[in-house]
Amino acid sequence: MGSESAVEEYEVIIIGAGVTGIYQTYRAVKAGFSVKTFEAGTNVGGTWYWNRYPGARFDSESYIYGYTFSEELQQEWDWKEHYSGQPETEKYLNFVTDKFDLRRHMEFNTRIEKSEYNEEENRWTVTTEDGKTAKAQFLVASVGILSQPHMPAIEGIESFKGDYWHTSHWPKEEQDFSDKRVGVIGCGATAIQLFPEVAKTAKHLTMFQRSANWACPLRNSEISDEEQTDIKSRYPEIKAKMDKHFAAFMYEPDPRSALDVPPEEREAFWEEIWAAPGFKKWFGNFHDIFTNEEAANLMGEFAKKKIRERVNDPEVAELLCPNDHPFGTKRLPLETGYYEAYNQPNVKLKDVKSDPIEEITPTGLKTEKEEFELDVIIYATGFDAISGSLTRMDIRGKSGATIREAWAEGPRSVMGIAVPEFPNFFITNGAVFCNTPTCCALQVDFAADCMEYLREKGHKNIEATSKAEQDWVEHCAAATQGFLFEKQEVNSWFMGTNIPGKTRVFLLYAGGAPAYRESLSESAASGYDGFEIE
Ligand code: NAP
Repeated sequence: MGSESAVEEYEVIIIGAGVTGIYQTYRAVKAGFSVKTFEAGTNVGGTWYWNRYPGARFDSESYIYGYTFSEELQQEWDWKEHYSGQPETEKYLNFVTDKFDLRRHMEFNTRIEKSEYNEEENRWTVTTEDGKTAKAQFLVASVGILSQPHMPAIEGIESFKGDYWHTSHWPKEEQDFSDKRVGVIGCGATAIQLFPEVAKTAKHLTMFQRSANWACPLRNSEISDEEQTDIKSRYPEIKAKMDKHFAAFMYEPDPRSALDVPPEEREAFWEEIWAAPGFKKWFGNFHDIFTNEEAANLMGEFAKKKIRERVNDPEVAELLCPNDHPFGTKRLPLETGYYEAYNQPNVKLKDVKSDPIEEITPTGLKTEKEEFELDVIIYATGFDAISGSLTRMDIRGKSGATIREAWAEGPRSVMGIAVPEFPNFFITNGAVFCNTPTCCALQVDFAADCMEYLREKGHKNIEATSKAEQDWVEHCAAATQGFLFEKQEVNSWFMGTNIPGKTRVFLLYAGGAPAYRESLSESAASGYDGFEIE
């Protein structure tokens, strides 16, 4: 960015070059804006740059996760697997960046420390970690919903003499665990992907499990040539299905209640969706597993039977059966060989709910009752999700108000995309209960169309109104009513309760992707209802 005193000026500054930031950059560049995209990593990819742990892969079908904005791209890119692994996804995101010549608008290895709006200049100024500054009329935060790692507050973490890292800071160099005693803390979707991979080579591997999760089989496979041709011929049909689905997947939820179906028929239906790949067990299930505890618990009994069939030691199997939340009320992890890993002689399951972790020692980990010698500790302890990546940044709007202060009691916004007092600032992180890239793309399009609209009309700025914000907050709360996620005892990143002190509120818009798309389009079509334009 030149010398320290030279402030670069752009029309649009984008923070983040992950799946969303790449598309946001594409849209802004295509519209002819001068653009700079700042990225903390040394390359594009975001989630798929940082989370390079073994076993990291899509849980959504590759062809619904990929971009839909370019038919040429869809026809050109061959996904190798139905659920693409991290290396292939990272390659894809690099391919897209280069195909559309976006790299020259990006600056890597540059973390934004502060973003400040100046009312007189009507400009945002961003300051990087090393003190450089740049200005723009518009600021877009494409910072992801699961990008702020959460390290637990366990005493002694830094005293550990072996290697340790959070899963989202996995080293780029290949890790050899063949002579290592490895411990994994956490068993969410991340750990459930990496655990069987590490089990393959580790000398010894211990899972320190606090709460068991409802992991379901992913059933990944390679895409054959015939399937490739078929997928490429059906992209519009796939998109049309996703557009109808409440979470933008290709599945049709069964309209019957799980409770209205005779037990044998219900069991046969669950066998069928269990045998299918991907999230069909969640999104293609009886519709009421999300809202009716009895239905979710019946599904849970079915899933427990599957766990018991796969784990040899009955005591271990019981520990792996969730007992603190109904089926599907946290993000469902998808697995490949997770349960079988516990049948290996080099693998141990330690229940740290009944015997909590007390401290990390220089040579391992101590629970109240036991001590473990370890060479490596992997923290699969999740993220300060959705709001965390924004509240932990210093973003200051009019009169110095920060997002951190504005969201002290939970996120408040208009459609998850804009906040009063923060003019010309768009959040495109897809905070919707939805296939993330799909809802991110809706936000990217809204922000890009809006910036183009303002330029075309000669308007200087746009700001969400407080009234629209209050209406949206109330609408979000109403949309969440009835969902089992909301039940008091279900704690997860969906509710913010994985982070000590964070306000308990469902952090994703639960009104469904079609309704969300409708809200965005209606606002845009009305000349940005919910916003003040100057
Ligand atoms: P997570 O689901 O929040 O899981 C964190 C785990 O760490 C939980 O098991 C939690 O236990 C445990 N934990 C935290 N602090 C602990 C402590 N002090 N002692 C013991 N255990 C502790 O995080 P994640 O697995 O990284 O997944 C986050 C999200 O990332 C997923 O839900 C998913 O949306 C996304 N993800 C996506 C993919 C994909 O699409 N392919 C893959 C991986 C992840 P408790 O449950 O007891 O709190």
